[in-house]
Amino acid sequence: MSEFRTINAADVAGQRLVVRADLNAPVQGGKVSDATRIQRFAAGIKPLLDEGARITVLSHFGRPKGERNKDFTIAPILPVLAEALGVSVRFADDCIGAAAVLASENLANGEIMLCENVRFHPGEEANDAGFAVELAKLGDIYVNDAFSAAHRAHASTAAITTLLPAFAGPLMAEEITALIAALEDPKRPAVAVVGGAKVSSKIAVLKNLVGKVDAVVVGGGMANTFMLADGHPIGKSLCEADQVPTVHEIRELAAKSGCKIILPVDVVCAFDFAPNAKNITTDLDGCPEDAMILDAGPKSVKVIADVFANSKTILWNGPMGAFEMEPFDMATIALAKVAAKLTKDGTLASIAGGGDTVAALNVAGAADDFTYVSTAGGAFLEWLEGKELPAIAALRLAAVN
Ligand code: AMP
Repeated sequence: MSEFRTINAADVAGQRLVVRADLNAPVQGGKVSDATRIQRFAAGIKPLLDEGARITVLSHFGRPKGERNKDFTIAPILPVLAEALGVSVRFADDCIGAAAVLASENLANGEIMLCENVRFHPGEEANDAGFAVELAKLGDIYVNDAFSAAHRAHASTAAITTLLPAFAGPLMAEEITALIAALEDPKRPAVAVVGGAKVSSKIAVLKNLVGKVDAVVVGGGMANTFMLADGHPIGKSLCEADQVPTVHEIRELAAKSGCKIILPVDVVCAFDFAPNAKNITTDLDGCPEDAMILDAGPKSVKVIADVFANSKTILWNGPMGAFEMEPFDMATIALAKVAAKLTKDGTLASIAGGGDTVAALNVAGAADDFTYVSTAGGAFLEWLEGKELPAIAALRLAAVN
């Protein structure tokens, strides 16, 4: 597989770069509530500005569906980006057109401008060639630094790569390097933790992972469907009976490649789907008919913690239980702490991704100690599925043309 080119700080003095970022951070009441994505982007791009690059930033923000809509203005991101960079950031209130192009041409060395939401134009999500031509007027070099948008072939992530010399940005390069190391060439034994609500949303992930890692820990609501397939009672638990054949298929694939599937050995069953609902902890044959499994139990935590202790790499997506509600966050938090400690001790490389997973790691206070926490949700999952992400394919193609 051919490689893509990575933008190098030393090459950029005086160059006009058009940089695709993912600044789609959560905003509540007009204020950014979690600036992680913006800060990670800023940290990578700052050295390019310090070298004298002239940078125009493109990003999507929410889903305005191809129409200008003030509810989806990217303006709330502007002050947070400026603060993260420690410089002022200009603003163009459209990402195409004469005014934006002129403003990009007028940037002095080391200056940066943010353009209004690219999704205000239908050409963006349609990967429209004509719209990409307009975007390409904003720079002489294209840089894609939006790994978390790389599973979409849009004009600002795909079509534009055929119009300008195209490079991966610092955060994109960092994400890909970390994920390749974890999935394609992991230190072994490597274990994946796949949790979350449903088997059906992660079938492709499970099928791909059982061929790549030495063990897969299945947790969360997904584990209920595995337990049902194994003949255990699961009461009123969230489960997908129609996915039982898929579970058998995944088990067969795992057996063929010598990958162990690890399920909880005890479960926390609640009589209500509510915080602090009455609950009991039992082995796998003890879930009452009128209860639902909302978490793995303490014996499971011990078993899985031992697996972590005997592993060199862990790849984590999805919570082990209904972690938004106490006390059903116990297994997720306890295991996140175990993984964080082993990482700190230097025996484990820990890689996590996906919105819920990162939120759970943050609740556990474990995110900072993980080796790598991806900023991506959908793109991270598609990577785990083994798919080539279209925006990365486009960068690779651009590098050989
Ligand atoms: P996902 O988006 O597939 O990663 O699923 C995350 C969601 O799964 C979170 O909102 C969890 O609360 C939920 N979840 C995890 N385990 C369970 C469970 N045993 N029962 C119901 N919901 C669960």
